[in-house]
Amino acid sequence: MNIIKFEDLPISEEIKRSVAELGFEEPSPIQVQSIPVILTGKDVIGQAQTGTGKTAAFSIPVLDMVDPNKKSVQAVVLCPTRELAIQVSSEMKKLGKYKSGIKTLPVYGGQPIDRQIKSLKSGVQVVIGTPGRVIDHINRRTLKMDKVKMLVLDEADEMLDMGFREDIELILEQTPSERQTTFFSATMSKEILDLTKKYQDDPQLIKIVRKELTVPNIKQYYIETRRANKLEVLCRLIDVYNPKLSVVFCNTKRGSDELVSELQARGYFADALHGDLKQTQRDIVMDKFRQGTIDILVATDVAARGIDVDDVEAVFNYDLPQDEEYYVHRIGRTGRAGREGISFSFVFGKEVRKMKDIERYTKSKLVRHDIPTIADVEE
Ligand code: ADP
Ligand code: MG
Repeated sequence: MNIIKFEDLPISEEIKRSVAELGFEEPSPIQVQSIPVILTGKDVIGQAQTGTGKTAAFSIPVLDMVDPNKKSVQAVVLCPTRELAIQVSSEMKKLGKYKSGIKTLPVYGGQPIDRQIKSLKSGVQVVIGTPGRVIDHINRRTLKMDKVKMLVLDEADEMLDMGFREDIELILEQTPSERQTTFFSATMSKEILDLTKKYQDDPQLIKIVRKELTVPNIKQYYIETRRANKLEVLCRLIDVYNPKLSVVFCNTKRGSDELVSELQARGYFADALHGDLKQTQRDIVMDKFRQGTIDILVATDVAARGIDVDDVEAVFNYDLPQDEEYYVHRIGRTGRAGREGISFSFVFGKEVRKMKDIERYTKSKLVRHDIPTIADVEE
């Protein structure tokens, strides 16, 4: 248990009020350790596993450090995906609710740039953006970087995995060299360390060691089923467990579209989220999911990165991920904020070997689960 409370942190009353309103009872370990250090102006590398509250760990000090009386952009947060930029921005808006005069703006591709330009012109202190769109605004001179005091790289490992290194460096080079630079990441890599050496000034590494790679409050099951039966098995599991919200992972866009059609044909409220959809369509799907108008989100890995919806009670690996690391990202969509979650991975034949790799990587054991019978469903 944490003995440190938000009350004990050197943060403003306005922030204390908003965290209380958000229902955060106490700061998470990464928050306890990062917030005071960032507030001193030091460069920080914050490393903690997914779902541990890294967003608030940098958002709180950013909100307390920007000057609401100045209309210039003072902090820029870079995020790997549009969804994540929207999510971080929405969390910042909630955290900054009582800090009057502070404006935050998400900027990402796929949304009309004119609207973003208009908002930027109206005076924004914190910009949260994907690297591509941030560069676009810099080039158009609609985003001025000369007054930026803080630069945050959120989910740095994912941004580098997605090939944003050049873009990130370009942005870093556009900001004043005396800026404060913070990196947040679930994992550390040589690439991150390279960037750190190049762009951070005597950074403090804050690393929260995980006991396990996966979040301990997720029950992980596997089910042996051949391809032809997967749909039926998925439906039965959903009927038996009745999760409030579920995310079902497929390895391909086409596979996810097909599965959505099958689910809809059976009367389930499902929709797909993948990279082929236009941004507006993705936003609509995510809104519906958050509101519960659809309760099954069928997603591919890239589209689902970082998605953080509290009520996801079950994750299904309809297709086993190619990469063990994806497995961890996927099941981390449930069991958020200390809640319980459940995950089911469908395996068959040779895939059992892949599953063993996953178990080794996550240092955890997947428990065998029987296929629910029709009788189970009707109970
Ligand atoms: P990360 O970036 O480390 O993966 P997030 O910042 O997305 O994690 O946080 C995961 C969830 O935990 C979010 O729903 C967030 O609102 C919630 N959360 C963050 N800090 C706290 C806290 N101190 N107490 C309770 N919930 C929190
Ligand atoms: Mg995060």
